[in-house]
Amino acid sequence: MIEKQHIINRFVSYVTVDTESDPESSTTPSTNKQWDLAKQLTEELRAIGMSDVNIDDNAYVMATLPSNVDHEVPAIGFVSHFDTSPDFTGANIKPQIVENYDGKDIVLNKEEGIILSPDYFEDLLQYKGQTLITTDGTTLLGADDKAGITEIMSAMEYLIQHPEIKHGPIKVCFTPDEEIGRGAHKFDVAKFGAEWAYTMDGSQIGELEYENFNAAGAKIKVKGKIVHPGYAKGKMVNSMYIAQDFINSLPRLETPEHTEGTQGFFHLTEINGKVEETKLNYIIRDHDKTHFEARKKMMLDLVSEINSQHDKEVIEIEIKDQYFNMREKVEPVMHIVDIAEEAMREVNIEPLIKPIRGGTDGSQLSFMGLPCPNIFAGGHNFHGRYEYVPVESMIKATEVIVKVAELTAKKYQA
Ligand SMILES: [Zn+2]
Repeated sequence: MIEKQHIINRFVSYVTVDTESDPESSTTPSTNKQWDLAKQLTEELRAIGMSDVNIDDNAYVMATLPSNVDHEVPAIGFVSHFDTSPDFTGANIKPQIVENYDGKDIVLNKEEGIILSPDYFEDLLQYKGQTLITTDGTTLLGADDKAGITEIMSAMEYLIQHPEIKHGPIKVCFTPDEEIGRGAHKFDVAKFGAEWAYTMDGSQIGELEYENFNAAGAKIKVKGKIVHPGYAKGKMVNSMYIAQDFINSLPRLETPEHTEGTQGFFHLTEINGKVEETKLNYIIRDHDKTHFEARKKMMLDLVSEINSQHDKEVIEIEIKDQYFNMREKVEPVMHIVDIAEEAMREVNIEPLIKPIRGGTDGSQLSFMGLPCPNIFAGGHNFHGRYEYVPVESMIKATEVIVKVAELTAKKYQA
């Protein structure tokens, strides 16, 4: 159905363009080089025959595939991001194609002795006999999320070439800066004009996600008092000890390394301390909204308590919400998950539905009025040198997109 070499060529044409985003930048896109791929994608959408192809001032690329049925079908969308993670270099990517994978170690880089081994990454074994695309061991691959773009582009092309497949209006959008948490920030939901959408940004084949963390960040500042240590009795206040009290008063087992599934946590991400001042950065995560609020309150109460033990305010806290669990927005329209699930089963994929221990652009979009579950794009080991993607998974994801389009039109038939 979907031609393998065509998918490989398309994917390679995207990953070989450096699109690393930069959290320190305040522009959109955060890096100028993201324009290169954004423009390339715009051209390609036009070339395959999409309508209303446009790129805005922030490099968001949008296009429409008009309906080919007479009855009314809600417009649905597919979204993926073209930036790659600043966690690891995305320049000079040299993808390697491993055909008919034999289940053994893959030498990514002979000179540097970098090996992708099923001993560490046992998921590899489920792709025995398939074609894998890997890095050369010195960069990330960028399957996150150029696999998603490959799949959306290929599905649109397929639908255009196969008018016998009936579908309603389909919207696509490729965004910058997802990896720095801003992929949805300048997303024009009204202009996009879809009733709901799917991000093609999950990992292994079968993944379907509509639940993610509620997320907040906390910045804590502790004030101390510096005095010559030889004459400090009764005078010095060491902010690092107060910070230590704060840290130790939070539940020690509610941290990322002790939790899984739908268990929430406090995560101390940074300490910066001197006698005079100590700063702590935390992130707070919980799928459950009530527990999430309770976690924030626990921190605020702790700050009050510590302050009450001193004759003046020694510790201050600022908590900012970052994103929320999209479940709240998706549950009232559960048919959008059901359609994706049904589409997977129709192309012989067992859906893996589980809560994301993180966030997605889809969670922000859901709260901006565009309910947006996440579907697998097929890659593994994102944000590092061991990233890889099976071509067969990209083909399956492409088929899922085509099926979702087809099923949606069918569901709304009079
Ligand atoms: Zn991604």
